[in-house]
Amino acid sequence: MKVKKQLIGLSPYKPGKPISEVKKQFGLNEVVKLASNENPFGCSNEAKKAISEALDNLAIYPDGYAATIRTEVANLLNVSEEQLIFGNGSDEIIQILCRALLNNETNTVCAVPSFPQYKHNAVIEGAEVREVSLIDGVHDLDGMLGQINENTRIVWVCNPNNPSGTYVSSEVFKNFLAKVPKDVLVVSDEAYYEYVVAEDYPDTTPLLAEFENLMILRTFSKAYGLASLRIGYGVGNPEFIQKIEPAREPFNTSVLAQVAASAALTDKQFLSYCKERNREGLEQFYQFCEKNNLHYYPSQGNFILMDIQKPGNDVFNYLLERGFIVRSGEALGFPTSIRVTVGSTEQNKAIIEQLEKFLNS
Ligand SMILES: *Cc1c(COP(=O)(O)O)cnc(C)c1O
Repeated sequence: MKVKKQLIGLSPYKPGKPISEVKKQFGLNEVVKLASNENPFGCSNEAKKAISEALDNLAIYPDGYAATIRTEVANLLNVSEEQLIFGNGSDEIIQILCRALLNNETNTVCAVPSFPQYKHNAVIEGAEVREVSLIDGVHDLDGMLGQINENTRIVWVCNPNNPSGTYVSSEVFKNFLAKVPKDVLVVSDEAYYEYVVAEDYPDTTPLLAEFENLMILRTFSKAYGLASLRIGYGVGNPEFIQKIEPAREPFNTSVLAQVAASAALTDKQFLSYCKERNREGLEQFYQFCEKNNLHYYPSQGNFILMDIQKPGNDVFNYLLERGFIVRSGEALGFPTSIRVTVGSTEQNKAIIEQLEKFLNS
């Protein structure tokens, strides 16, 4: 079989190791996974209730237009329903955008290190990927502007950035938008939006009125704790959304995902609980880093990138053998760091203890 030449040499996404596999491999009873920025507190009970109530209708295709959750998200964000597109996770919106805008005559601009799916999907479409290094862990938007030419179709701004946890401020982002050519799509990937506390973080939805080339991505996978159900969305210009709709699978979000997302939106208390606990958890890690003179990036997400000053894979393996799954920085572009998802107070304390032992060993 002859697959597209761009697929040759492209590796499939490597997910964090599953808990069951690690338990078996190291004979552990308990394993804590802090590798994929999943919500350590699960999801809202409202979402679970909504799912159990929907279980009698599994034989029926979902509403391909996702009308109910569409109305709710539109109201929440104060945008029109036509400005929304739902995806099987925001990952799928990234795929749809690449499919709709990129081919081998075009290029796309993104930061590095950043979320790998922008590049991955662009490569599959045969587009040239122009990567611009972060400066001090932050997007170099001037450098990215400099890479835009007449063949550029999409510029990706991961805000807050995964894996560094850093963010682009409102003023910097607005200045950038004003300079990007009007026919180049700017994607603001805000997967960690609900966790952000920085006061000068951009409020992007009002900017949609001014910038027709802006697209915002959000997800129910992180703060809402619904990663397993796969639902996220894009917010953009209604005419543009209409143009890309044919690139979306007709029934791309499931019934269970739609009802759970709807229910999750009503539970503001769960969301603010997670946000607060996440901040407390980050403080635990900040204190550990400061005590041990380790560099870290203050994070706006639910994860932290810490420079342990040892090969990331060694730290990863040390923790793995002791029942903690994290991400090695070696695969993320920070070879002596690890990226740890903020867990519960107890989980954070336990992993910090192991890290202290590692540093003293
Ligand atoms: C987790 C993540 C996503 C994807 O989330 P979905 O589960 O596909 O909605 C998108 N962008 C970034 C930066 C992420 O970290």
